Amino acid sequence: MNEYTNKFYYFCTQFLLTVNSRIFAVKNNNEIMKIIRKTAEISAEIQLLKAAGKTIGFVPTMGALHDGHKALVKRCVAENDVCIVSVFVNPTQFNNVADLEKYPRNLERDAEMLQNVGCKLIFSPKADEIYAANELTAQFEFDFNGLDAVMEGKFRPGHFNGVVQIVSKFFQLVQPDNAYFGEKDFQQLAIIHHMVRALNFDVNIIDCPIVREPSGLAMSSRNERLTAEQRKNAVEISKVLFESRNFATQMNPNELILWVVDEINKVPGLEVEYYEIVNSYTLQSVDSWSGFAVGCIAVFCGEVRLIDNVRYNS
Ligand code: AMP
Repeated sequence: MNEYTNKFYYFCTQFLLTVNSRIFAVKNNNEIMKIIRKTAEISAEIQLLKAAGKTIGFVPTMGALHDGHKALVKRCVAENDVCIVSVFVNPTQFNNVADLEKYPRNLERDAEMLQNVGCKLIFSPKADEIYAANELTAQFEFDFNGLDAVMEGKFRPGHFNGVVQIVSKFFQLVQPDNAYFGEKDFQQLAIIHHMVRALNFDVNIIDCPIVREPSGLAMSSRNERLTAEQRKNAVEISKVLFESRNFATQMNPNELILWVVDEINKVPGLEVEYYEIVNSYTLQSVDSWSGFAVGCIAVFCGEVRLIDNVRYNS
């Protein structure tokens, strides 16, 4: 793009932002980052990129971005010609209306952060752009092969139906070569791998390690809702999980589960919803330490529900 078309494009997109907020561009060092709101526009953009032979990396997010997301995006930028990030608080994966309403949203701040790490395109549609009215009321059906019957799936019925629904829609629209997901949402990652196999998506799923605060607390958009006191208490979750690894030779998985739950529930303001030690592929509970075991936890810290996990024998 020459200087003239660059300026013209920038002017047009800024104008569009002013008139209807559908698409806008942020410019930094002569690089334009676009924010696209419409499915037709993202499809047109993808067609152009594919025709130009560009590799596409994709990071689906719900926004309120933090350094955990940033790590995924940086890797996506480094490993692909173009990095596309979706910022969309997906209503169909919330089984609690209050949780959906309270979910933090700040697209302007997210855009600035994404621009600084080299993301070229944000896709941030409105719900009615993505879903027909009946899709918002009926549950999306999918054969999870049992992966949704435990942990998050058990305590948040329908959650993963919404996750598969939105990620499969995004994969169809964005057609990524590589898509980046965090191990923080361990069960989600296992389900995404299953979805890609079951629906024959031609996309590599890249597993990214959990990013933690210096205290050990797993980064989460929900941490924004914690008071200073709650944040201090929440640190105990990862502390206990890490400590539990030292006992894995002395206790069997069931004994260790009881120990972890007890230690965390002792902390004021924390209440464990579940702690399970499961095979990292099948997500079925393990009775012994053979195979790859991962401990997955959900804890209420006041009204804020936090999740975390720890690997045992790897
Ligand atoms: P979310 O916006 O919470 O839906 O997360 C978007 C993606 O970022 C998911 O693949 C998450 O697993 C990943 N993610 C969120 N928090 C972290 C973290 N602390 N470390 C690594 N990945 C994360």
